[in-house]
Amino acid sequence: MDSIYKSLAEIVGDDHVSNQPEELYIYSYDLGTTEPHRPDYAVAPRTTEEVQEILKLANKEKIPVAPLGGGLSLAGLAVPLRGGIALDLKRMDSIIEVNERARYVVLECGVSQGQLSSYLEKHHPNLRHSEPGAPPQATIAGNIAIHGQGDLAQPYGFNSDMVNGLEVVLPTGEVCRIGSCSVSPSWFTLHPLPDLGLFLGWCGTTGIITKLSLKLYPSKKIKSVEQFVVENEDLVPEIVYKITHTEMADDIVAWSQAIPTFSSGLHHINILMTADSEKELEFKTELFWDDVLAEYIRNGDGGFVALSAAMKAGLTSRPQVSKASDWKKGGGFEYVGAIMPVETYPECYRRGFDISARHDIPYTVLGRIIGRSHAMMFSWTYAFNRADPESIRQAREALHESDELALELGGTIWKPGVYGQKLVMERIEPNTLKLMKKVKELLDPNGIMNPGNWEVS
Ligand SMILES: Cc1cc2nc3c(=O)[nH]c(=O)nc-3n(C[C@H](O)[C@H](O)[C@H](O)COP(=O)(O)OP(=O)(O)OC[C@H]3O[C@@H](n4cnc5c(N)ncnc54)[C@H](O)[C@@H]3O)c2cc1C
Repeated sequence: MDSIYKSLAEIVGDDHVSNQPEELYIYSYDLGTTEPHRPDYAVAPRTTEEVQEILKLANKEKIPVAPLGGGLSLAGLAVPLRGGIALDLKRMDSIIEVNERARYVVLECGVSQGQLSSYLEKHHPNLRHSEPGAPPQATIAGNIAIHGQGDLAQPYGFNSDMVNGLEVVLPTGEVCRIGSCSVSPSWFTLHPLPDLGLFLGWCGTTGIITKLSLKLYPSKKIKSVEQFVVENEDLVPEIVYKITHTEMADDIVAWSQAIPTFSSGLHHINILMTADSEKELEFKTELFWDDVLAEYIRNGDGGFVALSAAMKAGLTSRPQVSKASDWKKGGGFEYVGAIMPVETYPECYRRGFDISARHDIPYTVLGRIIGRSHAMMFSWTYAFNRADPESIRQAREALHESDELALELGGTIWKPGVYGQKLVMERIEPNTLKLMKKVKELLDPNGIMNPGNWEVS
């Protein structure tokens, strides 16, 4: 038994550390196309103090640490690219406080999306959080560490914009609090202290988020959805603009996919709404049908899909994992999500269609509106067969081309894998890159945090 293993076992207990190949195997890959990389140890701490001890040890011994929540980013971001410690944070799963009146929750980093949703439904039915479409075991902390977006993106923006405070363990082991929680017992705001935007979007390369406070929002009694369909993709940005002008939608998602073939080439715009009464819902629905989108119906450019109650229930339930994942059989899929101007939807669709066709993958594209048409997360999804290396190679190539396309069209890549990170760093303004390097060297002098990712040279 090596000395590092012994030290880790002293910190977390024998049951929560492993160097056994069958357990390390699980931590060596994710669901996407990233090549597997085996860690040397898998460690599952329970407390902030244990995280501190692990990072102090890793920093002293210069052992890489790859933090892991649900491991569902798909882009290899929690795969231990340089081996070392796979730091599984799922045991840190306490919901510490819900402030009903100030609408926020304080929780530990291992709390999952599904856990928070069911907790709120049971104990605080008037409150909800912005839930991503990811499988429910994805963690809140993992999601904000990559600037995720959920089903309240339309009115409120990125999930990482909803953070009220953080507790972070620095790579050198110190604990640091950010936001009102650094000066008061209350975790109600991130502002107005000087901005220390050092941890959101850094994919665990600057420290471990151990606790966080997240904004909650009113949970209305009724959920509903309308679906508008057009043939001409050029109309989508203007339709989205008109819908966002009403400020009546919670989530707006425009999508198009090759399967089923009868709807291939059509653009569906899902408009998700919530209401506290049938009257409120009727008002919102009528606004879209009779007013905002009526001209497109009159001109023969589009129309609403008649959705049954069962179809609406399916479209408003969470999460909805796309069947696109099995289009190549073998259950593999990965997407490039890019943060794009909404007006690029038509070009994103056309060019994505071409990339899919070239790589013989049925096309799947989707644009989720963030804010009142302020941006759009546009995803190009590529299915592959896990059992077929050629199919994986094709998907990887398509993903790389989509990374390049996102930047070419004036967007940025969301949660890029290593290939996309390099493209971004090649293009980023030199002084910004220098600043990133300074931040990284200051916080993580020995380069132990999730190395291989965001390596600024
Ligand atoms: C079918 C499907 C649908 C999806 N839909 C959405 C969607 O609608 N919106 C969306 O935003 N995402 C979506 N995703 C992407 C992803 O699953 C989510 O963003 C998810 O919330 C990530 O959380 P995780 O716990 O799996 O993070 P992980 O993959 O475990 O981690 C993500 C990154 O954060 C780091 N990290 C994890 N925990 C910490 C921590 N405590 N401190 C510091 N760094 C940490 C990791 O090292 C890694 O770099 C989807 C994924 C799938 C498979």
